[in-house]
Amino acid sequence: MKTLHLKAMDETAVNEIEKAAEILKNGGLVAVPTETVYGLAASAFDETAVQNIFKAKGRPNDNPLIVHIAEFSELNSIVKEIPPVCKKCMDAFWPGPFTAVLPKKDIIPVSVSGGLNTVAVRMPANSVTREIIKKAGLPLAAPSANRSGSPSPSTADHVIDDLEGRIDAVVISGKCEVGVESTVVTFATNPPRLLRPGGITVEMLKQFIPDLVIDPAVTAEPEKDAEVASPGMKYKHYAPKAEVFMAQGSIKAFCKYCEEHKNDFDFALCYDEDEVDLKIPHTSLGANEDHQKQAELLFGFLRDIDDKGYKKVIVHAPLKEGVGLAVYNRLIRAAGFKVIDL
Ligand code: AMP
Ligand code: MG
Repeated sequence: MKTLHLKAMDETAVNEIEKAAEILKNGGLVAVPTETVYGLAASAFDETAVQNIFKAKGRPNDNPLIVHIAEFSELNSIVKEIPPVCKKCMDAFWPGPFTAVLPKKDIIPVSVSGGLNTVAVRMPANSVTREIIKKAGLPLAAPSANRSGSPSPSTADHVIDDLEGRIDAVVISGKCEVGVESTVVTFATNPPRLLRPGGITVEMLKQFIPDLVIDPAVTAEPEKDAEVASPGMKYKHYAPKAEVFMAQGSIKAFCKYCEEHKNDFDFALCYDEDEVDLKIPHTSLGANEDHQKQAELLFGFLRDIDDKGYKKVIVHAPLKEGVGLAVYNRLIRAAGFKVIDL
């Protein structure tokens, strides 16, 4: 299959948007830009097209997809009911990196929901992708546009590296501002529960959901055979081929540990504050408290680790506050839950 490259920097690229919409209406797969990461889209109503997403990515069938909409009116055909607290979050955070899990209507194939009776829905902020959804006249099922298990794609080049020749088209449109995937909250349980942290922070959610529960899988490895509320959380994820370890402790303890173990690691991912005393090759993800920058750089740096051929990498654990919680959640999975307590 030859992958068509469609360049659409904004919503004025009407020809490219039209082409992408046509491919989707005909059951094809198109990688689209969003403000979180690039998504691999297909019609959410087309069972075969949805199955082709799983094939192209090599994604386990029980890991459900997020359905992307452009207008509130589309919700009626997708979900059974919207609790008032969920509606308040949608009004506050859409379009944007907030995903709501709700009881699904039958029109959504079970392949989209990974066999669950709920569906995840989001209205992305990227105007090109919202135009594509409107032109196609379809909600789009779209997971991240990477090969399953590897770091998510925050640029079109990452998508091309992973999926060229496996999908019909890619819409090339610059980099993704948030850099990590959306915040996922399920409203199918009472009280609502955070399943995946992202650009919409716990602090922001609590303004509307004071009794929000944080699923334990957000910061730790799910127990073996435990029922996981969000199937995506049970897989090793976001991982480069190199072996990654996450070290948790102060700047001083991190630098000391790296010096003592300098023969064990060929690279470190750290923060600006660590750099002064760090004696092994390293890159900084930004200042300790600049969580937004860390999120933006994270997946590109995880991909660079393999491009540079590193085999064993140590990562300093980020602060678990604001968007930092999302960075922590991705890094502990990139490390396959191998944590060194300093
Ligand atoms: P990705 O599309 O790669 O960002 O992955 C989608 C994420 O949303 C995965 O972590 C899924 O487990 C989660 N998700 C999607 N649908 C549901 C659902 N119905 N219930 C719980 N989690 C979901
Ligand atoms: Mg993904």
